[in-house]
Amino acid sequence: MSFKLLSQILSQPTAPYREMHVQKLLTTTFDKHGVSYFSDPAGNIVVGVKNLEEYKLRLRQSSREPVRLFIAHTDHPGFHGDVWLGEKKLKIKWLGGSPTKHLKKSGMWVASADGLASDAMLTEATLDKSKRFLAEGIVEFKNAETKNAFPDPIKLFGGFRFKAPVWTKGDLVYTKAADDLVGAYCISQLAIDLKTKQDQSANFLGLLTRAEEVGFMGAIAHFELGWLGEATRKVVCVSLEASRALPGAEIGKGPVVRLGDRATVFDAKALQVLTQVAATRLKGKHQRRLMDGGTCEATVATAYGFPAIGISIPLGNYHNQSFEGGPESKGPLGPAPEFVHKHDIKNMLKLCAAVMETGLNWETPWAERLANFRKTHALAPL
Ligand SMILES: [Zn+2]
Repeated sequence: MSFKLLSQILSQPTAPYREMHVQKLLTTTFDKHGVSYFSDPAGNIVVGVKNLEEYKLRLRQSSREPVRLFIAHTDHPGFHGDVWLGEKKLKIKWLGGSPTKHLKKSGMWVASADGLASDAMLTEATLDKSKRFLAEGIVEFKNAETKNAFPDPIKLFGGFRFKAPVWTKGDLVYTKAADDLVGAYCISQLAIDLKTKQDQSANFLGLLTRAEEVGFMGAIAHFELGWLGEATRKVVCVSLEASRALPGAEIGKGPVVRLGDRATVFDAKALQVLTQVAATRLKGKHQRRLMDGGTCEATVATAYGFPAIGISIPLGNYHNQSFEGGPESKGPLGPAPEFVHKHDIKNMLKLCAAVMETGLNWETPWAERLANFRKTHALAPL
């Protein structure tokens, strides 16, 4: 695990449809390590192949091994600039989940395609009708020159700012956005690690999507292309997420074999493989439950007819809303940094590597259990 790369990713400004900085860092990293990638027409990054031709070849290779398509998103809830109301006053539109209390006077960061633009403060905040997330607000910039420098407000985007974009305290990693930059890190690191394992990398694809937080826009666009539908071998989708911590999915107790999300349960066969792999490789160091605190891209894959599973890192202060509190929290349900546990990330990576091993029983993962059922039944005839 490279904590340096993780920390670089977590430091990048990002918001729905404004993933350019995360993408730039990742593609630069891929170039450095010789990892192939290309952009699909929706601007998602496909990892592990260098163009559509290679992508289709991978899906059509004759193999008993399924392609594991790892999916994570590169955005995080945030705002887009809307209208300038003064020299340093900007009306904003919020996209995705958010804290709902103690919003006024919150510190914000603002960025453009060129990088961080300015620090700012949220001075007005209006919640959506449901009262469950921010709809719009006004941010006031520290720097009076901002309007001159950025006359087009739409080019600005931002989110909640804390003492640093990322810092650690013991084994906890605090950041403005772990969801889902931790998942994007894991896929990137996995792709780098697979470079030395050709037999395994032939069964790998990564998909780093855009605008998940506003309704899986990037993932839907990718499935809509129909490319995956041309596969002649099995494709198993693996969603990697940072998901709201829940009882039984606690921070520091290991990655979670995600049985489903708020929308659906996942594929019983592929889940059985994941369950067995986790039991042998991460004995006592993983958790297992239905993570129904949110919906993830495995649901999109399921809707499009692909077997899907998920692995989650338990996440503190989901969507920067203070559920667990801690440093820099502005109070219950107010703005707070998200946080995750280093060991959970390390072990998620381990689990992903194990899922890539060749020779796992994807075809008949229940065979052993079935044999046991039959044996038990024979011992207790009616
Ligand atoms: Zn999210």
